[in-house]
Amino acid sequence: MDPRTITIHDCDFSTYMYEEEIIARIVMLAEQIEQDYAGKNPLFLAVLNGSFMFTADLMKRINIPCEISFIRMSSYQDMQSTGHVKEVLGLTENIEGRDVLIIEDIVDTGHTVNALLHQLQEKNPSSLEIVTLLMKPECLQHQLDVKYVAKSIPNDFVVGYGLDYNGLGRNLRDIYKIVS
Ligand code: 5GP
Repeated sequence: MDPRTITIHDCDFSTYMYEEEIIARIVMLAEQIEQDYAGKNPLFLAVLNGSFMFTADLMKRINIPCEISFIRMSSYQDMQSTGHVKEVLGLTENIEGRDVLIIEDIVDTGHTVNALLHQLQEKNPSSLEIVTLLMKPECLQHQLDVKYVAKSIPNDFVVGYGLDYNGLGRNLRDIYKIVS
């Protein structure tokens, strides 16, 4: 399929991952997670807003008993030498002793997911893993073990399939990358 070019705000983007590829990768992730968590009743914590579409497509393909809830990370709270600190919002479940999987849209520098991991770890889950649709390994600034990655990508800004550019583009069914 030829790439499609679209304009959002002031930037041009061209298709990078078609829906078919996204779904094929999600099917593989779901199978892996099902095998790893059989009999464990895992709790998925999806980080809004960006992960909403990925979460829906992933959860439809997980056929073991499990729970799903939604959280948010606050906007930047504070500055430290390690970078910005974000706080988890909306966590109502007691995660002590639970097998928890965080669902993210994209891991870039890793600041967000690193902050989340630390805050959740303090609540003593039995296990804690990260599931992400996309990851930019070149940008990672933390030592993170991201167990479930649908696709690793280069350091390009992407939109679509839940990811936005200044509020627009989350509804696109394919993923687009910025045209440089
Ligand atoms: P990190 O804290 O890992 O640097 O960034 C994570 C968050 O930044 C993601 O959850 C996402 O909201 C945003 N982000 C990082 N890279 C991109 C990108 O290429 N496109 C979009 N739309 N958002 C991104």
